[in-house]
Amino acid sequence: MRHTKSHRNKRRSHHALGPIAFSKCAKCGQDKRPHTICENCGTYNNREVLDVLAKLTKKEKKQKAKELKAQEAEKQEDKPMDAAVLSKK
Ligand SMILES: [Zn+2]
Repeated sequence: MRHTKSHRNKRRSHHALGPIAFSKCAKCGQDKRPHTICENCGTYNNREVLDVLAKLTKKEKKQKAKELKAQEAEKQEDKPMDAAVLSKK
């Protein structure tokens, strides 16, 4: 049976790819794919699975370690702040 362009195009109208899903990393708060290791800090399910620093050079290691520390400090600052704000109210 002849398949017209219309028929073909109607079938293919459902083939478009959707947007990529992202979730936040529980440790560093970066966007990551769900059910995958966080590329930034190498954790999965709050457990360190991958050594992110292993492949870097000494100079890059220093910078990355600093970055991760800053991100964690930022996160820890957020929580006590919320509690303090709530207790004031
Ligand atoms: Zn992370």
